Amino acid sequence: MSDHCGLCGAEFTSMDTMLGENKLSDGNILCNKCLEKASNINQELLYGLNNFSINDIKRLIENSKVRETGEISNENLPIVINSEQGLLSKDLYKKRLKEIKQQLDQLKANLSIFAKGEIKELPHILALDETILAITDAQFSKTVDAGILLATPKRIVSVSKAMFSPVKVNEYHNEDILEVSFVNSFLSPIIKIHTKDKIVEFESFLNKDYAEDFYNFIKKIYNKEESQKQSDEVKTVSSEALFGQLEKLAQLRENGILTEEEFAEQKKKLLEKL
Ligand SMILES: [Zn+2]
Repeated sequence: MSDHCGLCGAEFTSMDTMLGENKLSDGNILCNKCLEKASNINQELLYGLNNFSINDIKRLIENSKVRETGEISNENLPIVINSEQGLLSKDLYKKRLKEIKQQLDQLKANLSIFAKGEIKELPHILALDETILAITDAQFSKTVDAGILLATPKRIVSVSKAMFSPVKVNEYHNEDILEVSFVNSFLSPIIKIHTKDKIVEFESFLNKDYAEDFYNFIKKIYNKEESQKQSDEVKTVSSEALFGQLEKLAQLRENGILTEEEFAEQKKKLLEKL
């Protein structure tokens, strides 16, 4: 398997590999940047990338360059934005809402009924190819607006929509997030996003466990060193425990409690866990 983008040749980042490969019909793989660039020219890519080869993509980008310098054509431009209202066309809105709801189902998103209004806004807020990685009920600390907090491959977004008032959206781009932290509290845990110039706090009293699950997910993305350290520790502990068990087994064999075959079988089982 190649670990370089078939178009720009760049080595894949951890974000590229984490989100699954963007595989083309000829086995070439695109990095997320190139996919974004190409899909800005032709949205169809997002719905059937494996129908296109690397040459198709090159041609697509070549043609769009020609068009930029030549006459303006609407042919391959995204048709989704209704420029008058800045909203999606009705059909695309429905399609996107359905996709988003499917993503929430897959995530087993356990949102309160208060989040319904926010979810209906998501097709307008998220880009067409922006998937939801994790989501929770959460609201800005010290406000009364209920809302949701969600993570996508490029940012964390908070959405809050009170009845009869416009939706409030705040976004924190990955490159601006230094780290995230969590304050566990019996009443309402707090998720903190640390950016270069401020720390924003979100309370989550509607579903405390779910907020913690959300935090555990985003910390893997934003607190890289810490999660690395933790997973190493867990590994050492578990292999130590396994070796302890192996020693006990060896003793049981020496004492004649286990036969040679029984020992071999148990040993194999233990080593498989490593
Ligand atoms: Zn690339």
